[in-house]
Amino acid sequence: MIDLKQSVQYVKTVGPTKVKYLNNLNIYTLQDLLTYFPREYEDRSKTKHISELQEGEEVTIVARVVSEVSIARIRKNMTILKTVVEDDTGRCTIAWFNQTYIKQRINRGQTYKFFGKITKKLNHIEMISPVFDEVGKIKNTGKIMPIYHSTYSLSQTSIRQAVENALNMIKGENIETLPDYLLSEYNLCELEKSLNQIHFPESETSRLLARKRLVFEELLTMQLALLEIKGESEKNVGITFDKNVKMSDVINSLPFSLTKAQLKVLEEIDNDMESNKPMNRLLQGDVGSGKTVVSIISAYKAVKSGYQVAIMAPTAILAMQHFEEFKKILEPFGIKIELLLGATTAKKRKEILENLANGTINILIGTHALLTENVVFNKLGLVVTDEQHRFGVRQREKIISKGNFPDVLVMTATPIPRTLALILYGDLDISIIDELPANRKKIETYAVTKRMEQRVNAFIKKNIDEGRQVYVVCPLVEEKEIEDEEENSKQDLKAVKEWTEIYKNQIFPEYKVECVYGKMKQKEKDEVMQKFKEGKIDILISTTVIEVGINVPNASVMVIENADRFGLAQLHQLRGRVGRGEYQSYCILKYNSQCSSVGRERMKTMQETSDGFVIAEKDLELRGTGEFFGTKQHGLPEFKIANLFVDMPMLKSVQSVALKIEAEDKGLKQEKNKRLRKIVDDKLKQSISL
Ligand code: ADP
Ligand code: MG
Repeated sequence: MIDLKQSVQYVKTVGPTKVKYLNNLNIYTLQDLLTYFPREYEDRSKTKHISELQEGEEVTIVARVVSEVSIARIRKNMTILKTVVEDDTGRCTIAWFNQTYIKQRINRGQTYKFFGKITKKLNHIEMISPVFDEVGKIKNTGKIMPIYHSTYSLSQTSIRQAVENALNMIKGENIETLPDYLLSEYNLCELEKSLNQIHFPESETSRLLARKRLVFEELLTMQLALLEIKGESEKNVGITFDKNVKMSDVINSLPFSLTKAQLKVLEEIDNDMESNKPMNRLLQGDVGSGKTVVSIISAYKAVKSGYQVAIMAPTAILAMQHFEEFKKILEPFGIKIELLLGATTAKKRKEILENLANGTINILIGTHALLTENVVFNKLGLVVTDEQHRFGVRQREKIISKGNFPDVLVMTATPIPRTLALILYGDLDISIIDELPANRKKIETYAVTKRMEQRVNAFIKKNIDEGRQVYVVCPLVEEKEIEDEEENSKQDLKAVKEWTEIYKNQIFPEYKVECVYGKMKQKEKDEVMQKFKEGKIDILISTTVIEVGINVPNASVMVIENADRFGLAQLHQLRGRVGRGEYQSYCILKYNSQCSSVGRERMKTMQETSDGFVIAEKDLELRGTGEFFGTKQHGLPEFKIANLFVDMPMLKSVQSVALKIEAEDKGLKQEKNKRLRKIVDDKLKQSISL
């Protein structure tokens, strides 16, 4: 049996250099290559007569060469080859740039199939840089061609070649991963055929059939794995917190009354905490919905039941922010809270670690610093992670392992439609705060074009003069056809520096303008953010790195440059940085009047609604998930082929298939499920879920 885990270097045409390039695309094994699915396809099967050709279309023609190939040097480093071809309906010029070798391959009088892009001016028709085949061959033309995500260094042709050779290696091998009974019951085509058809489809129908099978497998594997994780954790016996400790003691001490949604969520948490099963709950709530106070009240329950609490935030600034809020509310109850950061001095750290181990500290708040080996709790009972998508599963496991099956609460502001969340986070219970505290002022949102620039700047000025602060988010650098992360991040950096230059020196020389961007060290970022928090910066220019959850109530204006290029979910997150204090706040979306219809639709949605869940649904609809779920930001499982928007119906049916299989054969021990056991094991080895 063929070993799919063998290195990709054993695939024909893949030499040492290509191995490196493939590795850059996260392709290490034969299997990785086989499951490196095309990003899209180019249909070269459509053939037309010359008389029917339209401006701008990409099409195949079958035509005879009626002139010699001429070569002209039009510039230094630029030669152009031209020839004339004809069919029964007309003539067409063909041009290639810098491909002089083609002259040897084209013979006058012979007929070829050419595939390329048409330009048409009056009666002159030209095909630019076509690929071609002799009639009867279908190497480059006459079929549907896969197009892969790639980098500068790796051409489409060389990926195609490697994939083709990989497919040859598995020919006739028994590589099926799904049980036969599932294949026949759900009408799915076998794996080998599906892989062939997804890369080099014979027709659109066969591509769709192949896709259906691959999506089915991907989603089923995930569902079965999640069910298993959930089953495992339910076996554990956790802590039963004290029924006599009343959350209402804290609730009554607050300067505001909780929303109905917060109360409902707290009741769910209270029930979990009082049961002997370890709580494993995801708390979702829009930005500003008041998740922190929910975690504070839960922490009270744990502490007064005799346990310690760990609160983990992704950045120092967020940890500090939590520290302040926890102290404000819980210190009056005699609860001792400490803060541990990477930057904590050795002396202070030593003191904290001692008091943590001897149980004097009740609540420890911090960053990744909490994960360190020598952070030892006396009796850890509750773990809270904020903005969970910033932590990997491993990190979550690490902090959890510092206790004896403690209860776990993960908080996130990522708005995911509930139906989807229920399926995707199969291993977690979910609570949602779907309501903002009353009396929140609505953030006024305006989408404006370049024409309004002067007015926008005057508006910014007015706000700063009134004592407020402003965020400016820079445009993302346009995503290129060819992706090169390194290059892109360089460009992003250039962009943020240029924008800072413009704002600082040209538009607002009289104000304090500073910038923060992704490549900065975390410490430097925290310093700039801290200065902004303290009001020492008027305008903060940034890429999208502005910390999720950062609370600067004095900031009242959020300006987003080239807003039409951002996804809705992201725009919503960014908007949530303002409107956190007593001041009326504004979000100004600068967009390009020439932008796409999707961009326009996004601007409209942002102006019409501020409900994160509505926005998330709309985002799904507009994007067809690719990006929404692709981005690490959201911390959702990444799929190789499934698309959660398009495949929602499939996801639902797969979920019931998974439940049925589990009900029949828990642990997948039966012979007929042997293949499933294997793919689920593989999946569990990777990091799954969050
Ligand atoms: P997020 O859910 O984005 O983390 P926070 O927990 O930071 O939101 O809450 C935002 C602000 O709202 C905080 O200043 C918090 O004290 C306040 N807050 C929370 N709940 C309520 C409420 N029910 N009524 C009024 N203000 C509240
Ligand atoms: Mg928060």
